[in-house]
Amino acid sequence: MTHRRLERGRLVLASHNAGKLREVAAMLAPFGLEVVSAGALGLPEPEETADTFLGNAAIKALAAARATGLPSLADDSGFSVAALGGDPGVRTADWATLPDGGRDYMAGMRKVEERARGAADRGAWFTCALVLAWPDGRTEGFEGEARGRWVWPPRGDRGFGYDPMFVPDDGHGQTFGEMAPETKHASNHRARAFALLARHCLPSPD
Ligand code: IMP
Repeated sequence: MTHRRLERGRLVLASHNAGKLREVAAMLAPFGLEVVSAGALGLPEPEETADTFLGNAAIKALAAARATGLPSLADDSGFSVAALGGDPGVRTADWATLPDGGRDYMAGMRKVEERARGAADRGAWFTCALVLAWPDGRTEGFEGEARGRWVWPPRGDRGFGYDPMFVPDDGHGQTFGEMAPETKHASNHRARAFALLARHCLPSPD
């Protein structure tokens, strides 16, 4: 399959989530792109109506590309628990959404624990889909996973979202919330998706 490669210039990061923006902007730093966030451009957040990570990332990336006339990159990601058949999955953000529209990740994590409590299988994984979209409608999508197990109570305040309840298989027992950012970024789901994106679609690094 032939991938379309991004040229140097402006790239919109189609996310309003500060944690994701931080991680993706850090990974993009060596590629000589001028990164602007959807929030800074005042772009609305489209409704995520697809039932896959890649589908929802494409919705966000295409909406931003069409609204700005610039190539746009979106992340859709989530936390899956084996004992819950992969839930919350694409609904991870919803499980942490309060009736007033605000987010409470502790409440989201507690919901996971209440439903999975007592399960023999503690397996869990994060998935990240990154989709790059151009204003002409072309998209390129890549997915990465981080496998591990869920723990209760949550530990650590260094990450974001559901990080404090996830211990990756290669994490020496630390949760993503306890790890130094460089350690989490070295091999997480977002870094794995990003490595594929970089290989196939980004300009050569500086
Ligand atoms: P969405 O992609 O905007 O639908 O939101 C995905 C949700 O999954 C985020 O709001 C986080 O709660 C969670 N999530 C995704 N990636 C991570 C991560 O790296 N660490 C912790 N939580 C994450």
